Amino acid sequence: MEIKRTVYRDDHEMLRETARRFFERECLPRQAQWDRDGLVDRETWLKAGRDGLLCVTVPEEYGGGGGDFGHAAVLAEEYHRSGISGPSFSVHSDITAPYIVRLGTEEQKRQWLPPICRGEKILAIAMTEPGTGSDLKSIRTSAVRDGDDFIINGSKTFISNGLNADMIVVVCKTDPKAGAKGVSLIMVEADREGFRRGRKLEKVGQRAADTAELFFDNVRVPATNLIGNENGGFIHLMEELPQERLIIAVYCAARLERQLELTLQYVKDRRAFNQTVWD
Ligand SMILES: Cc1cc2nc3c(=O)[nH]c(=O)nc-3n(C[C@H](O)[C@H](O)[C@H](O)COP(=O)(O)OP(=O)(O)OC[C@H]3O[C@@H](n4cnc5c(N)ncnc54)[C@H](O)[C@@H]3O)c2cc1C
Repeated sequence: MEIKRTVYRDDHEMLRETARRFFERECLPRQAQWDRDGLVDRETWLKAGRDGLLCVTVPEEYGGGGGDFGHAAVLAEEYHRSGISGPSFSVHSDITAPYIVRLGTEEQKRQWLPPICRGEKILAIAMTEPGTGSDLKSIRTSAVRDGDDFIINGSKTFISNGLNADMIVVVCKTDPKAGAKGVSLIMVEADREGFRRGRKLEKVGQRAADTAELFFDNVRVPATNLIGNENGGFIHLMEELPQERLIIAVYCAARLERQLELTLQYVKDRRAFNQTVWD
């Protein structure tokens, strides 16, 4: 069942075709292996980068697709329509990369974005902590200034791309007494001393998605890794999270459509359905 939406232009629909072929050809055959591994292989990320399916809204000058939210939405629809689960391309491209695009300095954008768009560096965003979910201003992970560096201590949980991530936007307290006005966003590269990944979390679904715990034990990062304004992180999050919620709503609608389609096939012709789905 396909609904032709008028919000999409021809260039969006062209991307839809590329995305559909990619998810059918490169992802569906790997799903069972990803589920067994609890992880998506990095080669698939590199292929997605080569086919222009990562960071479609990042400006072309930084290696992205130069598109708009419609391109991201088309990709999300095709991903979820295909029935695959695991590669958190959207967390990388639609949820985390925009912090660099919108808030990064020119130097940060030139240095960080091209390998991110190619899938060579995988992104994650670490907000949630063992004791803090919705109430983001209560996070406890701290970043303390030490000369030209920040020293980061704390832990995060439920982080998508947690095992694969090379670069993590970490939400930290830079002024613990200031509540929401003491939060900052700091990029932590995964090869920094003191950074450690915990266990992959078992979930009811999305078995191949590497949702994990992360630990920061005196991790020293240069102050130039600050993204946006020092102590302005909470406002930055409030400005970016609506797009995260919107793209997640697109995933959910596409998944529901697929479930409805499968249900209709099943109730109309169970034998044909079993052959299509399970063969
Ligand atoms: C698969 C998965 C992937 C995730 N990926 C990431 C990630 O990449 N990065 C990251 O930082 N986090 C990630 N998370 C964490 C996610 O953002 C949190 O689960 C979310 O913020 C909610 O926090 P919580 O689970 O602690 O629930 P809580 O904050 O404890 O909320 C529990 C319930 O109480 C309700 N509630 C809370 N506060 C109020 C209130 N004031 N009034 C009324 N109701 C309230 C909530 O709506 C919810 O129903 C992920 C989670 C999952 C499950």
